[in-house]
Amino acid sequence: MALHVFALTGGIGSGKSTVARHWRSLGLPVVDADVLAREVVAPGSPGLDAVIARFGPEVLTPDGELDRRRLGRIVFDDPAARADLEGILHPLVRRAAGSAFAQLADRGETLACYEVPLLFETGQQDTYRPVVVVWASPETQRERAATRDGVTPEAIQARIDSQLPLDEKAARADFVIDNDGPLPRTLAQAEAVLTAVRERVDAADG
Ligand code: ATP
Repeated sequence: MALHVFALTGGIGSGKSTVARHWRSLGLPVVDADVLAREVVAPGSPGLDAVIARFGPEVLTPDGELDRRRLGRIVFDDPAARADLEGILHPLVRRAAGSAFAQLADRGETLACYEVPLLFETGQQDTYRPVVVVWASPETQRERAATRDGVTPEAIQARIDSQLPLDEKAARADFVIDNDGPLPRTLAQAEAVLTAVRERVDAADG
């Protein structure tokens, strides 16, 4: 049987990593697009060379690592620069995801999850089905992300505003996990959704 990959997405601080961690603990392989996005610009990588060629060596830290904050500030209100950066990173991340899935398939896995925060924003919502969205209210998102990242609620709000609204993502999802409440309730939903995903994939792949 071939490997089937479904998607996990959500908004800032909505609980994607929390659900992904629980699924991993149940034995499901989860590939994290954020981890791949860091790996493709590791020191010495062709990805980092391409970023330096476009943005200059000033986007490096003294240790030769990519200074993400600095790069983030450069592209924040410069759509052309952002498009250039995405043009470099997105194909590399897609290729890295492809090889991660190939490895899982070689290992005999039949189901895996791809955790992609910007699934809809990058137009990948039809590639990985079904789509699971982890939802929380904007107030909860702001509170949890601000506590975790040690930044102001205003800074979090700016990041929330830069993404497709979470309600919109939930409306377009096949399954929604409501993570506005206590953790045990979320983990119980995560287990039920995983069972439903397996059933749907088994029925479709037959
Ligand atoms: P990001 O994309 O911003 O990294 P995320 O969607 O992966 O966020 P998590 O890291 O899973 O979100 O959760 C954000 C924070 O909220 C974490 O500190 C997490 O421990 C906490 N958290 C998640 N779910 C709950 C919950 N149901 N109750 C209390 N705290 C929670």
